Amino acid sequence: MDLIDLDNNPAVVPQYNLDDEQEKKEIVRHYRALLRSLRTKLKKGDKELLRTAFEMAADAHKTMRRKSGEPYILHPLAVAMICVDEIGLGVRSTICALLHDTVEDTDIALDDIKNEFGNEIAKIVDGLTKISTIMDANSSQQAENFKKILLTLTDDPRVILIKLADRLHNMRTLDAMKHEKQLKIASETIWVYAPLAHRMGLYNLKTELEDLSMKYMEPETYKEIAKKLAETKRERTKYINEFTRPLKEKLTQAEFEFEIQGRPKSIHSIWNKIKKKGVSFEEVYDLFAIRVILDVPLDKEKEDCWKVYSLITDEYLPSPERLRDWLSNPKSNGYEALHTTVMGPQGKWVEVQIRTKRMNEIAEKGLAAHFKYKEGSQDEDRFDKWFVQIREALSNQQEDGIDFLQDFKTSFLAEEIYVYTPKGEVKMLPINSSALDFAFFIHTAIGSKCIGAKVNHKLVPIGHKLRSGDQIEIITSNKQKPTEDWLQNVVTAKAKNSIKDALREEKKHISEEGKYTLQRKLEGIGAVYNTYNIDQVMNYYKLTSHLDLLFKIATKNLDLKELKLFQVIGEKIEAPKPVIIASENIQETNTNKQLPKKDSELIIFGEKSDKIKYSLGKCCNPIPGDDVFGFVSTAKGLIIHRTSCPNATQLLANYGHRVVKTKWAKNKEISFLTGLSIVGMDDVGIVNKITNIISGELKINIAALTIESKDGLFQGTIKVYVLDKDELEELVERIKSLDGIQQVSRFDTETV
Ligand code: MN
Repeated sequence: MDLIDLDNNPAVVPQYNLDDEQEKKEIVRHYRALLRSLRTKLKKGDKELLRTAFEMAADAHKTMRRKSGEPYILHPLAVAMICVDEIGLGVRSTICALLHDTVEDTDIALDDIKNEFGNEIAKIVDGLTKISTIMDANSSQQAENFKKILLTLTDDPRVILIKLADRLHNMRTLDAMKHEKQLKIASETIWVYAPLAHRMGLYNLKTELEDLSMKYMEPETYKEIAKKLAETKRERTKYINEFTRPLKEKLTQAEFEFEIQGRPKSIHSIWNKIKKKGVSFEEVYDLFAIRVILDVPLDKEKEDCWKVYSLITDEYLPSPERLRDWLSNPKSNGYEALHTTVMGPQGKWVEVQIRTKRMNEIAEKGLAAHFKYKEGSQDEDRFDKWFVQIREALSNQQEDGIDFLQDFKTSFLAEEIYVYTPKGEVKMLPINSSALDFAFFIHTAIGSKCIGAKVNHKLVPIGHKLRSGDQIEIITSNKQKPTEDWLQNVVTAKAKNSIKDALREEKKHISEEGKYTLQRKLEGIGAVYNTYNIDQVMNYYKLTSHLDLLFKIATKNLDLKELKLFQVIGEKIEAPKPVIIASENIQETNTNKQLPKKDSELIIFGEKSDKIKYSLGKCCNPIPGDDVFGFVSTAKGLIIHRTSCPNATQLLANYGHRVVKTKWAKNKEISFLTGLSIVGMDDVGIVNKITNIISGELKINIAALTIESKDGLFQGTIKVYVLDKDELEELVERIKSLDGIQQVSRFDTETV
């Protein structure tokens, strides 16, 4: 539950005394403030319901305190207040917010809530509880948690809105937590909650979550930027006034009802700019957006926004590439506005956002405001569409949590582009979508048959990245079918899932053949083909599904040689103890000069300790930086091979279960012997030039060097000690750049 909630372990403070008048007053004060905020939304009977919820929560949490020491009930009260004031939610959501931690942390059961408040509220509280009750653990479980959040989200979006309010209050009160906990919570917030808030259209909430996360994750930078912002405030205000004065006059003359706001960018977004563009604070601190908010009737909105645009650009010159029209094409999170960037006084570029009061409320309060204005909006089903897409993605749950989270982030939390069908229909896709994504977006059948596309009438490959405004015509062929590498060409969950489905079907089809082979071989040893026996074989080869086993057999990646070692008892077979496989073409290495080497430079996945003894395959002489895998040989322990090793295919194919993933860690203290072969024009002094680069400039140790020359050509081999692949690559580049050198290659197969 750590992912979600800070309050999982409220300390019980025995000396807590409910009679403490001060605290009681404080609690009641917060409750009254909440009622005041809800005032306009209260219908008959609501006040009583709220009171019941408040008393129920206060009583349930009465012995609990937050880490900060304050009475626990202040937290649900604060969360409820955020729901009302900052997200614009109503009475029912407030009740849920008040009760959000009761089922998880107190004696109150879901049925109690159901009896008191009915089904709708009980369901939301249940959703909130479920998100919180998953155990704190590693990242993959966190990802699983997130998946669960989204499952509840699709039932009722209010669950996620209340959860965001909960997270915001926890972030605001993070000071009381231990440092490691702060980091953990802050990083989850920046990873999942801030993008989610953004996607729900809650811009203010998103900005605050980002700033708060940064405060804990990058405290120094945060403080520095905050300080500089404070120091430059007067200067900025002066400029904003200078900029807006003529605009105010013009708008007043034109008899608009309006408000103009000028705000600096958030600390987090300034920091992002500094990082991304590699600029200094001084170059970005004066970036701010001017917001013109119009009070106009719904049917005049678009017209008036453009009128204001015209007035502004009469005064200041606009940058033609920086016009964004989200009036005609709102973002899928509901955002509508007209953005332009103009040249202000002193030659500074200033972004101006033109919107109406309604649009502004949607921009600040997102989903809830959107519902409020729903009848008036032409895009009332935009959110519904988003939820439908999420639901579709969730219904395909084969992948594990981390993949899912990754997909979700690129697919649903990314910014969008707008593209057009040949008929001019507009479609929205996540940024970085390809022609293939578009094809699948239109229809699975079109995606599966896609061989390319015409983008703006030009022929492009399926992986071509689309840009806003592109018009796409998909080209299909009946002979086409999805392949594994298509997955690299798409970002949308829909395309990924469709491709995976197709591949799975294909695999099933191929596996049919493996079924016959296995049946024959089982019968060959006097056993029958049944689930028990297939399980035995599957487990023996350390595979996880029958499909994988049959597929491997069908594609001749598994020859079932060891099957004859199985014992047959009646109808059942029993796997033998692991057999010793003769070690193949592997010798103990230790050609390395500076031994003993540290074992920790290699990370071996799936193993508890990274201090595992290993040796390097003689057949391919891997060096740090190479793509490698580990092979468990019975005679020599773990041996590291390059994935390009001539023995690799055979080892991977036949002894897949003995392969462990490995990778190099940074370690500059050891060096590895490797060899280069060089071919070039015979030239006096070439040896000198080469050795000069190696030992003179790059300070690499040479172990041996031989050069043979014949008919004006020379061929040489050099054995050198390098730290890693990068160093070897640099060396190769340098030698290649010498006059007369034609070819430099590393030798793979020979023994160095
Ligand atoms: Mn909470």
